[in-house]
Amino acid sequence: MPSHDFDPMTDPAFQGWALRVADELWLELGEPGPTNTVLNWLWTMFTNNGEMPPHRLAEDVQRRRATLTKHRMRSLLDQARQETGLDIAESFLVTAPDAHEPTGQVYVGNTVIRSFRESWIAKETADAVQDHLMSRYRTVWPVCPRHHLGVHVIRTSTGPAWECSTGPHRFPIYDNPPQAKD
Ligand SMILES: [Zn+2]
Repeated sequence: MPSHDFDPMTDPAFQGWALRVADELWLELGEPGPTNTVLNWLWTMFTNNGEMPPHRLAEDVQRRRATLTKHRMRSLLDQARQETGLDIAESFLVTAPDAHEPTGQVYVGNTVIRSFRESWIAKETADAVQDHLMSRYRTVWPVCPRHHLGVHVIRTSTGPAWECSTGPHRFPIYDNPPQAKD
C-alpha cells in the first residue's frame, strides 16, 4: 500500500517515471488530483513494482484499457439489444504490441480505442458502438427518447453524454458514469 509519506501528486521520482511512461506508451495523464484514476493506477504500479521500464508496463496498460473498454461495450450492447430487439454480437479485439503500437490496440467494431482515462474510454466506446451498429446492422442507435432522432456523444463536466441532433438536450450514456476528472 502507498505510504502516507509519499503523495503521487508531488513525489518527484514518481512524477518523472509517470511522464516517461506516458510519453513512451502514449497515455494521457490528465490533471493531477485525488480523483485522477490514471495517476492513481500508475501510483499503485510504482509502489508495487518500482520504476518498471515502459515496455514492461505495456502489457498492464493494455489489460487495463481492454478491461475498461469491454465493461463499457457490454453495458452499451445490453442497452442496444433491449432497445432495438436485435441480436447484436460482441465485436472486441485486442492486438499484440508491435513496433508501431507499443501497447497493442483495442478494437470495438472497426474503431481503435486509444484513450487511457476512464471517462475518455467511456466516450470513445460509445462512439465505437454507435458506429458499429450503423455499419454492421444499419441501425441508428441510440435515438433521442423525445424526438426519435439520432444523437452524438459529447463531453460534459460530469462525463460523456448523448446529445440530441435537434439541439442541446442530453441524456446519460451509462447507469454508472465514469468520473469526469480522471
Ligand atoms: Zn431530442
